[in-house]
Amino acid sequence: MIIQKKIKFYGLKDLDSIEYIKNKLTDEEIFDIKVIANVFPFRTNNYVIEELINWDNIPNDPIFQLTFMQREMLDDNQFAEMANLIRSNVPKDEINRVAKKIRSGLNPHPSGQMTVNVPIMDNIAVAGIQHKYKETALIFPSAGQTCHAYCTFCFRWAQFIGDHDLKFATDESNRFQQYLKSHSEISDVLFTGGDPMVMSLKKLETYLLPLLQPEFDHIKNIRIGTKSLSYWPYRFVTDKDAYGILNLFEKIMNAGKHLAFMAHVNHGKELETEVLHSAVRRLRNVGVKIRTQSPIIKHINDSADVWASMWRKQVNLGMIPYYMFIERETGAKEYFEIPLPRTFEIYRDAFKQVSGLQRTARGPLMSASPGKVVIEGVTRVNGEKVFVLNMLQARNPDWVKRPFFAKYDETSTWLEQLTPAFGEQKFFYEDELDKTLKEKSYEHEKARHS
Ligand SMILES: *Cc1c(COP(=O)(O)O)cnc(C)c1O
Ligand code: SF4
Repeated sequence: MIIQKKIKFYGLKDLDSIEYIKNKLTDEEIFDIKVIANVFPFRTNNYVIEELINWDNIPNDPIFQLTFMQREMLDDNQFAEMANLIRSNVPKDEINRVAKKIRSGLNPHPSGQMTVNVPIMDNIAVAGIQHKYKETALIFPSAGQTCHAYCTFCFRWAQFIGDHDLKFATDESNRFQQYLKSHSEISDVLFTGGDPMVMSLKKLETYLLPLLQPEFDHIKNIRIGTKSLSYWPYRFVTDKDAYGILNLFEKIMNAGKHLAFMAHVNHGKELETEVLHSAVRRLRNVGVKIRTQSPIIKHINDSADVWASMWRKQVNLGMIPYYMFIERETGAKEYFEIPLPRTFEIYRDAFKQVSGLQRTARGPLMSASPGKVVIEGVTRVNGEKVFVLNMLQARNPDWVKRPFFAKYDETSTWLEQLTPAFGEQKFFYEDELDKTLKEKSYEHEKARHS
């Protein structure tokens, strides 16, 4: 029996009033969460608290780690500075000023997302769209730039802190539609955020229905990047527009489009509730394909068994494992990151214990400046220990599936820390990438000043 639930959000100001927390954490521990939640966005909800977190297993419970801030997310100096301000009750402005300073040192927009991936049309940047890979455009609907809860490790955390300079979203004019119309090479649009499924049915319709017009015939696949199945499955079951949403999806598919959920699922524990099972069944019944992706994150899913069991559950529910990402270099990455060799080992150990149906998650991969770079393996060539790398997507489509080699490095966590193997000076794509990036920044400069 699924009992209808109304969403109740909990943020920084509610930390003292969540019974579960008061019963399980000391005042000191709650204070630590508050300190961090003044820097990073904090939000959780009644489903996560009541049905997902195992309160007998905190702080280690992966779902607790997933939405509740942890003391180690800031280094000691940053933490002390913030903690002192809060203890001495300084005005909110002062706290915000320091929070802003700390954030600006945490690489809020990794891999040049704000500039080089944003297309320019008629000498003006197109708001709320990123177009990096030829076939696929990302769209950030302005009404979808929050989530039902926030992940502590979120690589788009800068979207949620109310700092306009760091925000990224479509504007009133919806120029992005104009852009899509005039780019017939775009076969896929991916609505993302935030989480587009926080939008009301009405809002969703304003974004999705126009794509059924003939001028968008080249757009075959509509994807929705969402964590709603994990954070608020009631969206598709008992929310008052749940049926409307399923009808909308059905309509889109009847019009000949492929509709895919790119579901963000970090741990098998998100896949156990009855309401989640019901949500998945309903989506599948109208024909939505659910593909799953997740970064690999220390304290949350840094074990092969966790991945293997998650993939098994996903396939069993009719979901298709799609990508295993490596956490980007942003925010509290030092708390969450895992060295590349260990990351690869976890992927391989998970892969080898499941059947072919569950081996569809490609990775582990870095969404880096040149493209989606996957670690294919670790091996020795002429005595030199190397990482074998490969691009699954690239700024220049011709860079894909050309294996390249980096020196093995036990502690590296990201592409930019790697150096080419065999004494080479550069990776094969670097000159061309530098040139492209320079051209793009120049175009953006020009657009800003005109
Ligand atoms: C991952 C990604 C996509 C989608 O890539 P697929 O391989 O088609 O899933 C599109 N744009 C950007 C910027 C991405 O990082
Ligand atoms: S659901 Fe996605 S966008 Fe939202 S907080 Fe989590 S990682 Fe970030």
